[in-house]
Amino acid sequence: MKISKIICAVLASAMVLAFAGCAEKEKTTLIMATNAEFPPYEYREGDQIVGIDAEIAQAIADDLGLELVIEDMAFDSIIAAVQSGKADIGVAGMTVSEDRLANVNFSNPYTTAAQVVIVKEGSAITSPADLVGKKIGVQLGTTGDIFAGDIENATVERFNKGFEAVQSLNQDKVDAVIIDREPAKVFVTQNEGLAILDEAYTIEEYAIAVAKDNTELLDQINASLAKLEESGKLEEIIGKYIKAE
Ligand code: GLN
Repeated sequence: MKISKIICAVLASAMVLAFAGCAEKEKTTLIMATNAEFPPYEYREGDQIVGIDAEIAQAIADDLGLELVIEDMAFDSIIAAVQSGKADIGVAGMTVSEDRLANVNFSNPYTTAAQVVIVKEGSAITSPADLVGKKIGVQLGTTGDIFAGDIENATVERFNKGFEAVQSLNQDKVDAVIIDREPAKVFVTQNEGLAILDEAYTIEEYAIAVAKDNTELLDQINASLAKLEESGKLEEIIGKYIKAE
């Protein structure tokens, strides 16, 4: 009698353990894919990745009770990382575009941005219309890259990092660079003799990329973003990095 009781107890606890093992492991991290070469949205400060996107993602992770993990990779690998589930979200000053929407979903936009043209001071290029037939530096796989490809007779030089495109402008290897406005401002401040054309090339919106099949996370992110907007936190984060002119 006593022995059968013990056997029962052992079997019961084994079953409890087996069930616990089968239960899906609860997710505790939010993995963000980015390319930390894009100040003020994401860049390295020592061994930390900081910037507007890093702070927005941190605020979302806090709201969802998850630990934020940032994975730094080439910009043109981010969509694939999100699609494959290697990362949960892509946050990289990423412009919402039709092409990308074929592969991932985007959250509601969290900011408006622009593509601008950087030239050498005193350049004959004074408006985007003057780019016809010119040599244009861009960052590979960005919307700047796509727009440059549409300019008549232009030669497009593609770089892995935006600042490498700017360096090649400095060295007169290209005539102009098409890149997002805020990084452009940072790069122009860091390099003497460069200027941003007044006329923006395009106006765009940045949003967070999420895998097509992860609509639950997409809804959670949109809800968090709405809270951040309502509380003024989103504006506070952006204002910390971008000073009003
Ligand atoms: N906004 C541009 C794009 O989405 C560039 C982004 C980036 O270089 N991080 O293509």
